[in-house]
Amino acid sequence: MSVRVPLLDLKAQYETIRDEIRSAVERVLESQNFILGPEVASLECEVAKYSQCKFGIGVSSGTDALLVALMAIGVKTGDEVITTPYSFFATAGVIARMGAVPIFADIEPETFNIDPNKIEPKISSRTRALIPVHLFGRMARMDAIMEVANRHGIRVIEDAAQAIGSECRGHRAGSMGHLGCFSFYPTKNLGGFGDGGMVTTNDEGLADRVRMLRVHGYRTKYRNAAIGGNFRLDEIQAAILRVKLKYLDRWTDARRRNAALYRDLLPAAVSAPEDDPEGRHIYNQFVIRYKRRDELMKWINDRAIGSEIYYPVPLHLQECFNSLGGKRGDFPESERASNETLALPIYPELKKEMLAHVAATIREFEARSR
Ligand SMILES: *Cc1c(COP(=O)(O)O)cnc(C)c1O
Repeated sequence: MSVRVPLLDLKAQYETIRDEIRSAVERVLESQNFILGPEVASLECEVAKYSQCKFGIGVSSGTDALLVALMAIGVKTGDEVITTPYSFFATAGVIARMGAVPIFADIEPETFNIDPNKIEPKISSRTRALIPVHLFGRMARMDAIMEVANRHGIRVIEDAAQAIGSECRGHRAGSMGHLGCFSFYPTKNLGGFGDGGMVTTNDEGLADRVRMLRVHGYRTKYRNAAIGGNFRLDEIQAAILRVKLKYLDRWTDARRRNAALYRDLLPAAVSAPEDDPEGRHIYNQFVIRYKRRDELMKWINDRAIGSEIYYPVPLHLQECFNSLGGKRGDFPESERASNETLALPIYPELKKEMLAHVAATIREFEARSR
Protein backbone atom coordinates (compact mmCIF):
# COMPACT_ATOMS: atom_id res chain seq x y z
CA MET A 1 0.00 0.00 0.00
CA SER A 2 1.43 3.38 -0.89
CA VAL A 3 -0.36 6.00 1.15
CA ARG A 4 1.08 9.32 2.12
CA VAL A 5 0.52 10.04 5.82
CA PRO A 6 1.58 13.53 6.89
CA LEU A 7 2.44 14.33 10.50
CA LEU A 8 -0.37 16.90 10.49
CA ASP A 9 -2.98 17.79 7.86
CA LEU A 10 -4.38 21.28 8.40
CA LYS A 11 -6.11 21.28 5.00
CA ALA A 12 -8.23 18.28 6.04
CA GLN A 13 -9.35 20.21 9.10
CA TYR A 14 -10.01 23.42 7.17
CA GLU A 15 -12.30 21.57 4.76
CA THR A 16 -14.63 20.67 7.64
CA ILE A 17 -15.07 24.29 8.83
CA ARG A 18 -14.34 26.41 5.75
CA ASP A 19 -17.69 28.24 5.58
CA GLU A 20 -17.79 29.12 9.25
CA ILE A 21 -14.20 30.39 9.19
CA ARG A 22 -14.85 32.48 6.10
CA SER A 23 -17.88 34.15 7.60
CA ALA A 24 -15.99 34.85 10.85
CA VAL A 25 -13.16 36.50 8.92
CA GLU A 26 -15.69 38.39 6.80
CA ARG A 27 -17.27 39.76 10.00
CA VAL A 28 -13.90 41.23 11.06
CA LEU A 29 -13.18 42.61 7.59
CA GLU A 30 -16.52 44.40 7.58
CA SER A 31 -15.86 45.82 11.05
CA GLN A 32 -12.38 47.11 10.07
CA ASN A 33 -11.50 46.69 13.75
CA PHE A 34 -8.31 44.66 13.76
CA ILE A 35 -6.68 44.67 17.17
CA LEU A 36 -8.00 43.98 20.71
CA GLY A 37 -11.67 44.36 19.81
CA PRO A 38 -14.82 42.38 20.61
CA GLU A 39 -13.57 39.11 19.07
CA VAL A 40 -10.49 39.11 21.32
CA ALA A 41 -12.61 40.00 24.37
CA SER A 42 -15.02 37.13 23.61
CA LEU A 43 -12.20 34.66 22.98
CA GLU A 44 -10.62 35.66 26.29
CA CYS A 45 -13.82 34.80 28.14
CA GLU A 46 -14.33 31.58 26.23
CA VAL A 47 -10.77 30.26 26.68
CA ALA A 48 -10.76 31.29 30.36
CA LYS A 49 -14.02 29.41 30.94
CA TYR A 50 -12.80 26.40 28.95
CA SER A 51 -9.63 26.36 31.06
CA GLN A 52 -11.46 26.79 34.40
CA CYS A 53 -9.92 30.24 34.94
CA LYS A 54 -11.40 33.58 35.90
CA PHE A 55 -9.33 35.66 33.49
CA GLY A 56 -7.89 35.28 30.00
CA ILE A 57 -5.66 37.82 28.29
CA GLY A 58 -5.10 37.36 24.55
CA VAL A 59 -1.51 37.91 23.43
CA SER A 60 0.60 37.72 20.29
CA SER A 61 2.08 34.21 20.73
CA GLY A 62 2.79 31.46 23.23
CA THR A 63 6.32 32.80 23.59
CA ASP A 64 5.01 36.27 24.40
CA ALA A 65 2.52 34.75 26.85
CA LEU A 66 5.48 33.28 28.78
CA LEU A 67 7.49 36.49 28.49
CA VAL A 68 4.71 38.77 29.71
CA ALA A 69 3.92 36.30 32.52
CA LEU A 70 7.53 36.58 33.75
CA MET A 71 7.28 40.38 33.48
CA ALA A 72 4.00 40.37 35.43
CA ILE A 73 5.49 38.53 38.38
CA GLY A 74 8.47 40.88 38.36
CA VAL A 75 11.34 38.56 37.41
CA LYS A 76 14.55 40.58 37.41
CA THR A 77 18.16 40.31 36.25
CA GLY A 78 19.96 37.62 38.20
CA ASP A 79 16.83 35.85 39.40
CA GLU A 80 16.62 32.11 38.88
CA VAL A 81 13.71 30.35 37.21
CA ILE A 82 13.46 26.56 37.40
CA THR A 83 12.20 24.64 34.38
CA THR A 84 12.63 21.45 32.36
CA PRO A 85 15.51 20.93 29.92
CA TYR A 86 13.20 18.90 27.66
CA SER A 87 10.88 21.40 25.99
CA PHE A 88 10.53 23.77 23.08
CA PHE A 89 13.23 26.45 23.19
CA ALA A 90 10.87 29.29 24.12
CA THR A 91 10.36 27.93 27.65
CA ALA A 92 13.97 28.69 28.60
CA GLY A 93 14.54 31.44 26.03
CA VAL A 94 12.09 33.80 27.74
CA ILE A 95 13.85 33.32 31.09
CA ALA A 96 17.19 34.38 29.60
CA ARG A 97 15.56 37.30 27.78
CA MET A 98 14.47 38.67 31.17
CA GLY A 99 18.10 38.60 32.31
CA ALA A 100 17.23 35.71 34.61
CA VAL A 101 18.98 32.33 34.73
CA PRO A 102 17.25 29.13 33.64
CA ILE A 103 17.90 26.39 36.20
CA PHE A 104 17.00 22.97 34.91
CA ALA A 105 15.52 19.97 36.71
CA ASP A 106 15.33 16.62 34.89
CA ILE A 107 12.15 14.92 33.66
CA GLU A 108 10.25 11.77 34.60
CA PRO A 109 10.86 9.20 31.86
CA GLU A 110 7.21 8.08 31.65
CA THR A 111 5.57 11.48 31.27
CA PHE A 112 8.43 13.55 29.77
CA ASN A 113 7.49 16.25 32.31
CA ILE A 114 9.58 17.87 35.04
CA ASP A 115 10.06 15.51 37.98
CA PRO A 116 8.55 17.18 41.07
CA ASN A 117 11.11 15.40 43.27
CA LYS A 118 13.99 17.04 41.44
CA ILE A 119 12.75 20.60 41.96
CA GLU A 120 13.48 21.22 45.63
CA PRO A 121 17.27 20.63 45.43
CA LYS A 122 17.41 23.34 42.74
CA ILE A 123 15.75 26.02 44.84
CA SER A 124 18.01 28.82 46.10
CA SER A 125 17.49 32.23 47.66
CA ARG A 126 17.37 33.65 44.13
CA THR A 127 14.63 31.35 42.81
CA ARG A 128 11.72 33.49 41.70
CA ALA A 129 9.59 31.24 39.57
CA LEU A 130 8.98 27.75 38.30
CA ILE A 131 7.82 26.92 34.77
CA PRO A 132 6.49 23.37 34.45
CA VAL A 133 5.63 22.37 30.86
CA HIS A 134 2.69 20.09 30.08
CA LEU A 135 4.62 18.42 27.30
CA PHE A 136 2.84 16.81 24.35
CA GLY A 137 -0.53 17.49 26.02
CA ARG A 138 -0.10 15.62 29.29
CA MET A 139 -0.14 17.68 32.45
CA ALA A 140 2.85 17.75 34.74
CA ARG A 141 2.17 16.57 38.32
CA MET A 142 0.83 19.94 39.40
CA ASP A 143 -0.31 18.92 42.91
CA ALA A 144 3.24 18.01 43.90
CA ILE A 145 4.70 20.98 42.03
CA MET A 146 2.37 23.50 43.69
CA GLU A 147 3.10 21.99 47.09
CA VAL A 148 6.86 22.59 46.70
CA ALA A 149 6.36 26.02 45.16
CA ASN A 150 3.95 27.23 47.83
CA ARG A 151 6.19 25.97 50.61
CA HIS A 152 9.01 28.15 49.23
CA GLY A 153 6.87 31.11 48.13
CA ILE A 154 7.71 30.64 44.45
CA ARG A 155 5.38 31.67 41.61
CA VAL A 156 4.36 29.01 39.11
CA ILE A 157 3.82 29.74 35.43
CA GLU A 158 2.35 26.79 33.53
CA ASP A 159 3.65 26.40 30.00
CA ALA A 160 0.40 24.98 28.64
CA ALA A 161 1.26 25.75 25.00
CA GLN A 162 0.67 22.10 24.06
CA ALA A 163 -2.03 21.37 26.61
CA ILE A 164 -5.28 23.30 26.14
CA GLY A 165 -8.06 21.25 27.75
CA SER A 166 -5.80 18.67 29.36
CA GLU A 167 -6.62 17.77 32.94
CA CYS A 168 -4.95 16.59 36.11
CA ARG A 169 -7.41 15.21 38.71
CA GLY A 170 -10.19 17.32 37.25
CA HIS A 171 -8.17 20.53 37.03
CA ARG A 172 -7.48 21.98 33.62
CA ALA A 173 -4.11 23.11 32.30
CA GLY A 174 -3.52 26.78 33.03
CA SER A 175 -5.77 26.86 36.12
CA MET A 176 -3.47 25.47 38.82
CA GLY A 177 -0.43 27.73 38.68
CA HIS A 178 -0.41 31.49 39.28
CA LEU A 179 -0.46 32.02 35.51
CA GLY A 180 -1.06 29.75 32.52
CA CYS A 181 0.37 30.30 29.05
CA PHE A 182 -1.18 29.00 25.83
CA SER A 183 -0.07 29.08 22.20
CA PHE A 184 -2.32 29.21 19.15
CA TYR A 185 0.51 28.39 16.75
CA PRO A 186 -1.07 26.47 13.83
CA THR A 187 0.26 23.06 14.95
CA LYS A 188 -1.18 23.32 18.47
CA ASN A 189 -4.51 21.63 19.23
CA LEU A 190 -6.24 25.00 19.02
CA GLY A 191 -4.30 26.63 16.19
CA GLY A 192 -4.93 29.95 14.51
CA PHE A 193 -4.11 31.08 10.99
CA GLY A 194 -0.88 32.67 12.21
CA ASP A 195 0.58 33.42 15.63
CA GLY A 196 -1.40 33.97 18.81
CA GLY A 197 -1.47 33.12 22.49
CA MET A 198 -3.29 33.55 25.79
CA VAL A 199 -2.39 34.08 29.43
CA THR A 200 -4.84 32.72 32.02
CA THR A 201 -5.03 33.35 35.74
CA ASN A 202 -7.39 33.33 38.69
CA ASP A 203 -5.62 36.32 40.26
CA GLU A 204 -7.23 39.64 39.40
CA GLY A 205 -4.09 41.65 40.19
CA LEU A 206 -1.95 39.53 37.88
CA ALA A 207 -4.60 39.70 35.14
CA ASP A 208 -4.57 43.45 35.39
CA ARG A 209 -0.75 43.56 35.18
CA VAL A 210 -0.63 41.30 32.13
CA ARG A 211 -3.30 43.40 30.43
CA MET A 212 -1.27 46.54 31.11
CA LEU A 213 2.07 45.05 30.01
CA ARG A 214 0.45 43.78 26.79
CA VAL A 215 0.08 47.40 25.62
CA HIS A 216 3.47 48.86 26.57
CA GLY A 217 2.59 49.16 30.24
CA TYR A 218 -0.18 51.72 30.18
CA ARG A 219 -3.63 51.67 31.73
CA THR A 220 -4.47 55.14 30.46
CA LYS A 221 -3.31 55.80 26.91
CA TYR A 222 0.18 57.29 26.68
CA ARG A 223 0.66 57.23 30.47
CA ASN A 224 3.15 54.42 31.08
CA ALA A 225 3.15 52.92 34.54
CA ALA A 226 5.53 50.09 33.60
CA ILE A 227 7.68 49.01 30.67
CA GLY A 228 5.73 46.48 28.65
CA GLY A 229 5.66 45.63 24.99
CA ASN A 230 3.42 45.06 22.03
CA PHE A 231 1.93 41.68 22.90
CA ARG A 232 -1.47 42.26 21.27
CA LEU A 233 -3.68 39.67 19.59
CA ASP A 234 -5.43 40.31 16.27
CA GLU A 235 -9.21 40.27 15.80
CA ILE A 236 -8.93 38.01 12.76
CA GLN A 237 -7.05 35.38 14.76
CA ALA A 238 -9.52 35.63 17.63
CA ALA A 239 -12.52 35.26 15.29
CA ILE A 240 -10.98 32.14 13.72
CA LEU A 241 -10.01 30.66 17.08
CA ARG A 242 -13.56 31.16 18.39
CA VAL A 243 -14.88 29.00 15.56
CA LYS A 244 -12.26 26.33 16.19
CA LEU A 245 -12.76 26.30 19.97
CA LYS A 246 -16.29 24.95 19.43
CA TYR A 247 -14.80 21.85 17.80
CA LEU A 248 -11.88 21.38 20.17
CA ASP A 249 -13.43 18.68 22.38
CA ARG A 250 -14.48 16.67 19.34
CA TRP A 251 -10.94 16.92 17.95
CA THR A 252 -9.43 15.99 21.30
CA ASP A 253 -11.66 12.91 21.50
CA ALA A 254 -10.45 11.89 18.04
CA ARG A 255 -6.80 12.31 19.11
CA ARG A 256 -7.46 10.22 22.20
CA ARG A 257 -9.14 7.54 20.09
CA ASN A 258 -6.13 7.50 17.77
CA ALA A 259 -3.78 7.10 20.72
CA ALA A 260 -5.77 4.10 21.97
CA LEU A 261 -5.66 2.55 18.48
CA TYR A 262 -1.90 2.97 18.30
CA ARG A 263 -1.52 1.25 21.67
CA ASP A 264 -3.38 -1.74 20.27
CA LEU A 265 -1.53 -1.85 16.97
CA LEU A 266 2.09 -0.94 17.68
CA PRO A 267 4.57 -3.76 18.32
CA ALA A 268 5.64 -4.35 21.92
CA ALA A 269 9.22 -3.20 21.27
CA VAL A 270 7.93 0.31 20.72
CA SER A 271 7.03 2.02 23.93
CA ALA A 272 3.90 4.05 23.38
CA PRO A 273 3.06 6.92 25.73
CA GLU A 274 0.74 5.83 28.51
CA ASP A 275 -2.59 7.55 28.94
CA ASP A 276 -2.73 9.72 32.05
CA PRO A 277 -4.41 7.51 34.69
CA GLU A 278 -5.39 10.57 36.74
CA GLY A 279 -6.22 13.02 34.00
CA ARG A 280 -6.94 13.79 30.39
CA HIS A 281 -4.02 13.62 27.97
CA ILE A 282 -4.85 15.65 24.86
CA TYR A 283 -2.06 14.26 22.63
CA ASN A 284 -0.79 17.37 20.93
CA GLN A 285 1.88 14.86 19.97
CA PHE A 286 1.96 11.07 20.20
CA VAL A 287 5.57 10.41 21.11
CA ILE A 288 6.98 6.90 21.19
CA ARG A 289 10.35 5.67 22.42
CA TYR A 290 12.44 3.28 20.42
CA LYS A 291 16.09 2.31 20.83
CA ARG A 292 16.96 2.49 17.12
CA ARG A 293 14.96 5.66 16.63
CA ASP A 294 16.99 7.13 13.76
CA GLU A 295 16.73 3.94 11.68
CA LEU A 296 13.02 3.69 12.33
CA MET A 297 12.53 7.33 11.40
CA LYS A 298 14.32 6.83 8.10
CA TRP A 299 12.29 3.68 7.40
CA ILE A 300 8.92 5.35 7.84
CA ASN A 301 9.95 8.62 6.18
CA ASP A 302 11.14 6.64 3.14
CA ARG A 303 7.60 5.25 3.04
CA ALA A 304 6.01 8.73 3.02
CA ILE A 305 4.97 8.71 6.66
CA GLY A 306 5.56 11.96 8.53
CA SER A 307 7.36 12.01 11.86
CA GLU A 308 9.40 14.47 13.88
CA ILE A 309 11.85 14.49 16.77
CA TYR A 310 10.66 16.64 19.66
CA TYR A 311 13.33 17.62 20.73
CA PRO A 312 16.68 16.49 19.35
CA VAL A 313 18.83 18.68 21.64
CA PRO A 314 17.87 19.24 25.28
CA LEU A 315 18.00 22.86 26.38
CA HIS A 316 21.05 22.59 28.66
CA LEU A 317 23.08 21.48 25.62
CA GLN A 318 21.95 24.29 23.31
CA GLU A 319 24.85 26.38 22.03
CA CYS A 320 23.26 29.66 23.14
CA PHE A 321 23.27 28.40 26.75
CA ASN A 322 26.96 27.38 26.74
CA SER A 323 27.68 30.06 29.31
CA LEU A 324 25.38 28.26 31.78
CA GLY A 325 27.91 25.44 31.83
CA GLY A 326 25.52 22.58 30.98
CA LYS A 327 27.22 19.40 29.85
CA ARG A 328 26.32 15.95 28.60
CA GLY A 329 25.31 13.72 31.50
CA ASP A 330 23.75 16.53 33.58
CA PHE A 331 20.16 15.48 32.82
CA PRO A 332 20.27 11.85 31.76
CA GLU A 333 16.51 11.36 31.28
CA SER A 334 16.17 14.42 29.05
CA GLU A 335 19.20 13.34 27.03
CA ARG A 336 17.86 9.81 26.68
CA ALA A 337 14.48 11.17 25.57
CA SER A 338 16.20 13.31 22.94
CA ASN A 339 17.88 10.19 21.56
CA GLU A 340 14.91 7.81 21.71
CA THR A 341 11.71 9.67 20.95
CA LEU A 342 9.72 10.05 17.76
CA ALA A 343 6.38 11.76 17.17
CA LEU A 344 3.89 9.90 14.94
CA PRO A 345 0.82 11.31 13.14
CA ILE A 346 -2.07 11.66 15.64
CA TYR A 347 -4.15 14.54 14.19
CA PRO A 348 -7.95 14.25 14.54
CA GLU A 349 -8.67 13.80 10.83
CA LEU A 350 -6.21 10.87 10.54
CA LYS A 351 -8.28 7.97 9.22
CA LYS A 352 -8.22 4.62 10.97
CA GLU A 353 -6.79 2.92 7.85
CA MET A 354 -3.99 5.47 7.66
CA LEU A 355 -3.13 4.95 11.31
CA ALA A 356 -3.19 1.18 10.81
CA HIS A 357 -0.82 1.66 7.86
CA VAL A 358 1.62 3.62 10.07
CA ALA A 359 1.52 0.88 12.71
CA ALA A 360 1.95 -1.86 10.08
CA THR A 361 4.96 -0.06 8.60
CA ILE A 362 6.56 0.06 12.03
CA ARG A 363 5.75 -3.61 12.66
CA GLU A 364 7.39 -4.44 9.34
CA PHE A 365 10.57 -2.62 10.40
CA GLU A 366 10.55 -4.44 13.71
CA ALA A 367 10.07 -7.87 12.10
CA ARG A 368 12.86 -7.33 9.57
CA SER A 369 15.38 -6.10 12.07
CA ARG A 370 14.79 -8.68 14.76
C1 LIG B 1 4.68 26.19 20.91
C2 LIG B 1 5.31 26.28 22.23
C3 LIG B 1 5.70 27.50 22.79
C4 LIG B 1 5.71 28.79 22.04
O1 LIG B 1 4.53 29.13 21.41
P1 LIG B 1 4.56 30.09 20.12
O2 LIG B 1 3.13 30.44 19.94
O3 LIG B 1 5.12 29.31 19.00
O4 LIG B 1 5.39 31.29 20.44
C5 LIG B 1 6.18 27.50 24.09
N1 LIG B 1 6.31 26.37 24.79
C6 LIG B 1 5.97 25.18 24.28
C7 LIG B 1 6.11 23.95 25.13
C8 LIG B 1 5.48 25.09 22.98
O5 LIG B 1 5.16 23.89 22.48
